[in-house]
Amino acid sequence: MLGQMVFASTALGLFTVVAIGVMVYMNYQQQQQQTQQTRAGGLGRRRYCVGSDEWKGYDPLDSAPCSICQDEIGESQRYTLSCKHSFHSECIMAWIRNKLECPNCRKAL
Ligand SMILES: [Zn+2]
Ligand SMILES: [Zn+2]
Repeated sequence: MLGQMVFASTALGLFTVVAIGVMVYMNYQQQQQQTQQTRAGGLGRRRYCVGSDEWKGYDPLDSAPCSICQDEIGESQRYTLSCKHSFHSECIMAWIRNKLECPNCRKAL
């Protein structure tokens, strides 16, 4: 009888731990999604152009939008400068007719 009660409370405790774990995990997933949405929403420009080491882990294939026209860059239209900033090839070609520097970090081309 006592053994059964101990077993029951242990099972209940285990269930609670698993339930809390699942809740924390789902919450974490949600936060990750929100972070990604915020990044895709145009904060990429601020994130990558301040300071010099900010975009050290920057992946050129990242989904940062073109900061000239603020649109998403498709893989076929992508033009990446030596500073690792990416733009539409059309946008950056029009830009460098006027200025020979990166629109994001002002690095000379
Ligand atoms: Zn563009
Ligand atoms: Zn740049």
